[in-house]
Amino acid sequence: MFKHKGNDKMTVQPTLPSISVSRRQFVGGIGAGAVALLALGGAGQRVQRAGAAPSRPDVRVKTASSNGVFTLPPLPYDYSALEPHIDALTMQIHHSRHHAAYVNNLNAALKDYPTLQNRDATDLIAHLDSVPEAIRATVRNNAGGHVNHAIFWALMSPQGGGEPSGALAQSIRGTFGDFASFKVQLADAAAKRFGSGWAWLVVNADKRLQIVSTPNQDSPYMMGQLPLLGVDVWEHAYYLKYQNRRADYLAAWWNVVNWHAVGQRFDVAGV
Ligand code: MN
Repeated sequence: MFKHKGNDKMTVQPTLPSISVSRRQFVGGIGAGAVALLALGGAGQRVQRAGAAPSRPDVRVKTASSNGVFTLPPLPYDYSALEPHIDALTMQIHHSRHHAAYVNNLNAALKDYPTLQNRDATDLIAHLDSVPEAIRATVRNNAGGHVNHAIFWALMSPQGGGEPSGALAQSIRGTFGDFASFKVQLADAAAKRFGSGWAWLVVNADKRLQIVSTPNQDSPYMMGQLPLLGVDVWEHAYYLKYQNRRADYLAAWWNVVNWHAVGQRFDVAGV
């Protein structure tokens, strides 16, 4: 009953060449190029046949509108796929109601702003100063919610868990000492976020890894940072299964982290 994924069509992802983001693009925050690349979900490219099990999880993060209308991106797995760590009903409500509401509210806010309708939601939140003040708070909350959740879904997988590899693993060790220490620090940031918000692993404006947390639907993009990995600590993300036990939810969430996707985001960040 939770079958959701629209896999009745062939999906062809664009081929992206190896990418580096120049240091210049990071001056004063992240560059438009990096925003666009990460919005596309990185360098992954694949042809997926209808009904075929993907050899790799789908890591695309689509936050652009189509013909000026923002749409709810389908999950790259079924609502029940992350059981037992995240339950199907939580996933269904979280995606089809909460995330959908952010998308709908964003479209409503931009109703009279056709130019903004055609900008990527990631670009909107990375440059909120360019959004008219009359709708800025609404765009901040709802484009923020749209982008944050689009990233969140793409960075989980039923084949998740374990540890990162390659350049990302090396950078995590260089920054945090070892993977276990990194996990402790991210979980700590998530646990200490008072009320609703997110904890993130980001590439900051100095092109270094950093753990940050944001309130509400604020995004690292709003601070000139590239989010590599984020965990939603709003109660709606865990309350049905874990009630007030946020720490238990966080401990379970590590089992579904899609390190392949996180690594792709790191690779295109050009660190
Ligand atoms: Mn949420």
